[in-house]
Amino acid sequence: MTPARGASAVASPAPALWVLIVAALLLLMLAAAVVGLLVQRVRRHRHDVEAAALAERLRRDAHHDPLTGLRNREGFLHAVTGAGGAVAVVDLSLLDQVNDTLGHARGEVFVRLATERLVDVRLPSLTGRELVAARLEGDTFAVHIPGVDGHDAHRAGEELRERLLAPYVVEGVRFEPPVVVGIAADGPWLADVPAGPERTAALLRRADVALAATRDGVEAVRCYEPSMGERAARRLRLIRGFSAAVGRRDVRVDFQPVVSLGERTVVGVEALARWDHPELGLLLPDEFVPVLEATGQIAELTTFVLDESLAAARRWLDRGMRLSVAVNVSVGNLGTPGFPEEVATLLAAHRVPAELLTLELTESGVSSEREIALPVMRRLHALGCHLAVDDFGTGQSSLAHLRRLPVDQVKIDKSFVLGMGTEYGDVAVVRAIVEMGHTLGLTVVAEGVEQAAVRATLAEMGCDVAQGYLVSRPLPARCFDSWLESLEAHPDEPGAAPGPRTLIA
Ligand code: C2E
Ligand code: CA
Ligand code: CA
Repeated sequence: MTPARGASAVASPAPALWVLIVAALLLLMLAAAVVGLLVQRVRRHRHDVEAAALAERLRRDAHHDPLTGLRNREGFLHAVTGAGGAVAVVDLSLLDQVNDTLGHARGEVFVRLATERLVDVRLPSLTGRELVAARLEGDTFAVHIPGVDGHDAHRAGEELRERLLAPYVVEGVRFEPPVVVGIAADGPWLADVPAGPERTAALLRRADVALAATRDGVEAVRCYEPSMGERAARRLRLIRGFSAAVGRRDVRVDFQPVVSLGERTVVGVEALARWDHPELGLLLPDEFVPVLEATGQIAELTTFVLDESLAAARRWLDRGMRLSVAVNVSVGNLGTPGFPEEVATLLAAHRVPAELLTLELTESGVSSEREIALPVMRRLHALGCHLAVDDFGTGQSSLAHLRRLPVDQVKIDKSFVLGMGTEYGDVAVVRAIVEMGHTLGLTVVAEGVEQAAVRATLAEMGCDVAQGYLVSRPLPARCFDSWLESLEAHPDEPGAAPGPRTLIA
């Protein structure tokens, strides 16, 4: 038994040693835990740093335009928060042209060149004050002009425009942008809007409205006025309401007779669009046509007017009256693909011979978009339609220019005809156009004939056709038909009536 006790005494370490071993193990575990914790801390810290950098980059990306490095709209709203002053929206309106001429990559070069003129920009009238610029879209930029009121803001806008106006040379091609600037200055009228991005956004919206007001071509730099907002709101109503108005037949076509000066017979009509707006009252085309032209909705109006006019021409033919109808066409229509085909389809649908349709194009429209207009005019002419140059005398057309166009008629602008009663110069202009038109083999139409004496002078000059209040104002279809019937009943009645009308079908 003894050796066994002895052996056990040798094999097991003393209790103190056990304690030491356990303590060492515990220490080791503790150290491992501390190291683990530290590593975790370091990792988390690195992660936090990376995440912060990423967040910063994302924020930067969200606030900056990748092409130019300028701020974008969001970035602009945040950068000028509560800074007062004025906001300018600058539009160069050249990007499409550069893209079309040289391709998209060169368009980007042009945008970068414009950007260079906006980085760190300081204006002479704003000594030392730095402006914040942003790219809103395409070649439209926003600039914050600090510490100015309305008057100084306008001057700063002029200077900004000067800076951007100088020609841009891209790939050896010189471009001169038609720079326009709309400005809105902070002021008491924005007191309700809290300072911050919301206030800046309100300024931007108003600067946009002022920018739209430069489109009339009178002034290239405009400051916002509340009346502009009303006009813009009215425009927006017209844009949004047009299609429904056509559907409800609030839009209609009136007919104004056109009479031959020789035989004094009614030879045709001009179709003139009207919009009977339930709230705004009767709207005339001078208000809504430019709006529809700007949005592309003019195609819908022209289709409607063509359809109504050819339906009327058909009705008159069925009653034995061969009256031609003249429809006003915008340059935008000529740019719409398939326009000549549409005209051909409508002529066929109403069974109206093409030579009874005259399409009127303004002189300025034809000369500004020749590359687009000319081929389409040729195709329309080939269909057998007549083409007329409207408002002749107001644009840049020369005699040589008219000779190259496939036109049959020239309509002397009514401003000259109206002036014939009082201005000798206008009589001379009209006489010259009549002679020139005849030399080119064109039918000459005078519109705006209000006085019998003017009609007599036109007849004496040899002008072919007249249109004007003297004969009749434009009339709704049903009234026009009654007017025709009244002529038939009293063909020789003196006064406004032009005498018997052409009834040969
Ligand atoms: P426009 O083509 O020069 O049409 C003639 C305008 O002169 C018409 O004005 C007509 O009412 C007016 N007028 C006719 N005779 C006289 C007169 O003796 N004295 C005076 N002071 N004015 C006279 P309206 O109907 O207001 O049309 C204005 C313009 O709107 C038209 O000028 C035409 O350019 C455009 N327009 C009218 N309908 C359409 C349309 O369906 N499509 C397009 N694109 N434009 C249209
Ligand atoms: Ca016309
Ligand atoms: Ca005209």
